[in-house]
Parts: sequence; C-alpha cells; structure tokens
Amino acid sequence: MNIIAILNHLGVFFKEEPIHQLQASLESKGFQVVYPVDVQDLLKLIEKNPRVTGVIFDWDKYSLGLCKEIHDRNEKLPIFAFANDQSTLDIHLADLRLNVHFFEYRLGMADDIALKMGQATQDYQDTILPPFTKALFKYVEEGKYTFCTPGHMGGTAFQMSPAGSIFYDFYGPNAFKADVSISMPELGSLLDHSGPHKEAEEYIARTFNADRSYIVTNGTSTANKIVGMFSAPAGSTVLVDRNCHKSLTHLMMMSDVTPIYFRPTRNAYGILGGIPQSEFLPETIHAKVAATPGAKMPRYAVITNSTYDGLLYNTGFIKENLETPFIHFDSAWVPYTNFSPIYEGKCGMSGDAIPGKVVYETQSTHKLLAAFSQGSMIHIKGEVEEETFNEAFMMHTSTSPQYGIVASTEIAAAMMRGNTGKRLIKDSIDRAISFRKEIKYLREQSEGWFFDVWQPDNIDSVECWKLDPKDAWHGFKDIDDNHMYLDPIKVTLLTPGMGSDGQLLGSGIPASLVSKFLDERGIVVEKTGPYNLLFLFSIGIDQSKAMQLLRALTEFKRAYDLNLSIKKMLPALYNEAPHFYEGMRIQELAQAIHELTIKYRLPELMFKAFDVLPEMKMTPHAAWQQELAGNVEEVPLQQMVGRVSANMILPYPPGVPLVLPGEVVTDASRPVLDFLQMLCDIGAHYPGFETDIHGLYRQADGSYTVKVLR
Ligand SMILES: *Cc1c(COP(=O)(O)O)cnc(C)c1O
Repeated sequence: MNIIAILNHLGVFFKEEPIHQLQASLESKGFQVVYPVDVQDLLKLIEKNPRVTGVIFDWDKYSLGLCKEIHDRNEKLPIFAFANDQSTLDIHLADLRLNVHFFEYRLGMADDIALKMGQATQDYQDTILPPFTKALFKYVEEGKYTFCTPGHMGGTAFQMSPAGSIFYDFYGPNAFKADVSISMPELGSLLDHSGPHKEAEEYIARTFNADRSYIVTNGTSTANKIVGMFSAPAGSTVLVDRNCHKSLTHLMMMSDVTPIYFRPTRNAYGILGGIPQSEFLPETIHAKVAATPGAKMPRYAVITNSTYDGLLYNTGFIKENLETPFIHFDSAWVPYTNFSPIYEGKCGMSGDAIPGKVVYETQSTHKLLAAFSQGSMIHIKGEVEEETFNEAFMMHTSTSPQYGIVASTEIAAAMMRGNTGKRLIKDSIDRAISFRKEIKYLREQSEGWFFDVWQPDNIDSVECWKLDPKDAWHGFKDIDDNHMYLDPIKVTLLTPGMGSDGQLLGSGIPASLVSKFLDERGIVVEKTGPYNLLFLFSIGIDQSKAMQLLRALTEFKRAYDLNLSIKKMLPALYNEAPHFYEGMRIQELAQAIHELTIKYRLPELMFKAFDVLPEMKMTPHAAWQQELAGNVEEVPLQQMVGRVSANMILPYPPGVPLVLPGEVVTDASRPVLDFLQMLCDIGAHYPGFETDIHGLYRQADGSYTVKVLR
C-alpha cells in the first residue's frame, strides 16, 4: 500500500477544495491518503512508515525549510508542493537536488495531478530498488512459462500434492514464482558476473566502498574459503587469527598450506581480546616462520574483525604494518560498518587502497543486516586477477544459486544507502546506548545485585569506545593504545560472580541460568559465557524488543531474589530431569554451579587453555588426509596427551578452535585438556548444562572420546 501524506491546515477555501478533489483522485488510484497534524508529525510519519511514497504541502507556508527536513530523512522521497501564482521559488532549491514537483491550486485538475503523482511514485520506487531485484520482479510480473528447472515450476508442482499445497500456502505464490532457473538470459549470471547480477555487484561495491564486490549465496563460511583458496596456493604459509571461525580451519584442511597463528589475548571474563600490535610486525612474523618447520614468509593473513564480543581493530595500523600482500578481514559480524562515521578506520574497506596489497572484507549480510540466511559478500580493495579469482568463486558456488538470496543481499545494500540507511544504523546505535544506560540506571536503583554492562564508565559520546590501557573495566592487561574499540551495538551484560580482575567471588549467578530463563521467554541470547551474556542490537531490534529484554532481566532478578523453585522458574530445564531438579531452588542451583566454577578455577583454566597453543605436528591438511585414509582411532579424552588430533576441537562458547587437526596436546598445553574436561564435568553434574563441543564424542556412559591419528 502506497501512502501519500498531506500537510494542509489552511482553512482557505480556494486551497482546500482542490486538495479534497485530489484526495478522491488519489484514492481511486489505490493510494492511502493521510493527514499529519503538523510538521513534526509528518517527519515522524516519514521516519516510522517507510511506505510513505510522497508528501504534499503548501509552498507558501513551508517551502525550503521543510524540504530540508524531509531530505534528511529520505532524500529520494517525492515532494509535491502546491503554490499559488505569487509563490516565489527559492534559488537554493537547485543545490539540494530535491525531488520536488510543483502544482497550482486549481479546481478540476485533480485527475491530472494524481496521474503525475502516480508516475512520480513509480519513478521513486524505481530509483530505490536495486538492479537485480528490479529485473527479477519484472521477470516474475511477466509471468513467463518455462520448461526449465526448478522442478516445482513456479510453485505448480507443490500444488499437485496435499503436503506440497500446505507448504505452498505457507510461503505464498511469489516465493515460488521468483525461484527461477539460471537459464533466464535477461537475469544474467551470478557465476559469470553478467547482466543484472553484474549490475548488482557493482551496486554493492559502490555502496560498501569497495573496488569489487561479490555476492556469495552460501554464507561467509564459503566467502572465507573462496578468498583463502585464491590467496594462498598449495605449499604457501598462511597467517591465521587463532580466534578464527571454523570455516578457516576447513580452508586449511582443504588447501595444502602451513599455518602460523596470530596470538590474541583473552581476559578473565573469558572475553576474546584482540591480537596485540606486535603480532602484526615483521620481526614477530619472521620469528614464527623460523620456528615452524616448512613455513615460508606468509602471503595471506586473516583477522577476525570484529571479534565475537564486538571489538574492532584500528585497521589502518594492520594494513600498513602487515607485510603480507593479501590481508583478509573476516567481518562476518559487522556488515554495517560503512554506514556510520563511528566505524571509520576500523574496518577493511575504510580508506584508500594500499599499493601492492589487496584487502578483503567478508561479511555475513544475513547476520546483522536484513537478508535471507546465507546472504554474504566479499569486498575487495586492490588488484586481483579476476578470472582466477572467479575460478575460486565458482569452485565453491552451486551452479543453481537461489535468486531469492541474491536479491535479498542486494536489497540489504539498497536499504543502507543514503540518509534512510544512515538513520537505520544510527537508530540501532542509539537504542543500544540507551539500553546500556538503562541497565546502569537499574543497577544504581536496585536493592542488592543487578546486571552490569561491560563498557567504559562514561558512554556519553556516541562512538566505538577505545580500550584504554589505563582503564580497568575491560579486564585486559598490557594492551596497546589506539588499537581496539568496543562497538556500542554489541552489548555484553555481566552477571555477579566475578570481580573485574577475574577473581571469583564467594557467591555468583552463572550466566547460563539467565540465558535459560530468557530462552523460556522467547529471547535468544547470542552467546553465553561463564558470567557474561552477549546481545546484538541489529537493525531489527526495535524499542519494544529492547524493552521486553529489560523486563525479562528485571523479572529474573525478582524470581532469583524470591528464590523460586527450578520447576516454577525454569520449567523447560526442570522437565529435562524432573527427579534431579525436584525441590531445588534457583539460588541453590546458581551457587552450586558457581562453586563448581570455583573448584575448577574456570577463569584461570580458560585463560591458560587458550594461552599455550598445542604443538603442530603436521598441517591441518595432512591430518585430514590421514583421517580420510582411515588412519584414525577414537580414544578417551584423557588419553589425548601426546597424540595427534585428527579433528578440530571447538567449544561453544567461546566458539573458536582450541585444538586444530594435526596438533598435539603436550604436557605444556595440558590446560587445554583440563579445560575440556571441566566443560564435560559441569555438564555431567547438571542436566541441561552440557557444553556443545565440536570434535568431542559423548559416549553412552557420559564420558567423551576424541579422534586421534594412529
Ligand atoms: C558466522 C561467521 C562466519 C560464517 O558466516 P556464515 O554466513 O554463517 O557462513 C565466518 N566468520 C565469522 C567470524 C563468523 O562469526
């Protein structure tokens, strides 16, 4: 439904009557006409209702000032100004590049004017829709009849079956009509980068400040492999952030490369820190190359930016100092950095190209912008051999890509353009900051305990807050100045139990309890650490969702303070093991898990587990080949010391690999094993608290095994 807003409170008959006639004409053309009460109301309407496709007002009364206000909200929105013969045109109008159309107040002209407005609305929608999406919609509207794949034929096949019909009705016709085969020449090709697909990539590159962009329809998991495969030929050495996503471990299993690692820090809360500046310097890298059998000077480096917990790097430092010709920022979590000035200098595509270097940024569009799952982008600044790059791209791409994913990825870019996009990000940032302040306020007002926020004491300025070496709040020791910054939209809440120095206190509330409580209320926490919870304030989080979260947190506190039973407070957990949880109360459970944490010295163990790396005996690629050849056996977790791990072992949280294929846990890296054992033990004590650990196999008796090479 298209909406036209009319700002018209004149009480002047010769002006009002033509407007009434116009309203009737517009309505007959299918527009909804609304009357905001004043300018503020109109501006709010434009902000809150993206279906407004035009504004009508009286030029004698409002003119240029109002145009500017509208422009700040949506510079493309058609403005229809009515003027009488005496109206003057402001000469600055041309400077503003406004989309203004002028009409005169005259009776009997309504149909004509409405027709022009209809055209202007069409033109407006045409400008804001990106090229591929437009071509796809046009194709669907034409309703061509094809004899190609997909076999459902625009949904027809589903409707020939009872189960299929239910499925069809759920999604609705357009989902199927727009799922078309790749053999439509008018839509071009994702794999050949032709036609509207090519236009979409160019549009995305312009939007994200890249020289070249690619749409990837199988997530950043795939985008990372494309970039890595192209940049690191067999036999080369790669520099990999040890806090990497598992897709990069898979890259190293697929490609015959030798890894050396950037060593990030980690604080006592278990929050992943950044990679210190020294790790990017040639001396450090030379030393690591010298110490690693088979390693050469690396050609390719990959860094997770931002970290899972929302820390962004000063990327300028990395780009300038890191000597590898290919520098890849895995920015799966931050596809929005190009749309707010607070991220300037903290992302891959910031600034100009660096001669002799190629900078990549891979982003999961679907994670924090609005796109279908798996929508992802690769952005490139610098020169790459395009045909070869495309071979790597095609190697990882289906020959039947889902056009719905392509279109939604392109739409995500369209949404972020111009003033409407800037406002979306700004609103997310503002909402996250006010949520942070609200938690602080509730903490001050609360009797007894309340949640805390992991952030600087002063968050009044809207920016990414620097991790200052002089400050204590972040819990990192000996960090570099002007190096890492906290993204305001990644909100980490802290539960009681741990001091900022990482010492465990006498009593505590493990975050997993809060997380389970929220889950039962339909609020899914992004990540749960020992005493911290991560929430993402993406553009889809509106004020009501933020308030619901606040409410649920205060409810948790109330229920905890009342010491409700597990049965009442966490029914889903209770149902997992009714005998075990019968009669148990929340404070008892919280304290018991807290004491286990103390007993195992969790923070210290977690810190150490990631501090001493296991030893690389062979490359991940070589270990994987051994596994494929069947040279593996399963042994109990405790017998893993001294054996070469076949798999990557990766606990959630923190969601980064602890042991990579081909690595040996030695006596020096024994904390790795102790840490894993502790996670298993906590799960064994309390049903419902099992940690999800990739690479460990749970046996019927509750013990765990691992795969090692024979
Ligand atoms: C999620 C994630 C990926 C993978 O992205 P998908 O779009 O889920 O395939 C890669 N890297 C990092 C750092 C991630 O968090």
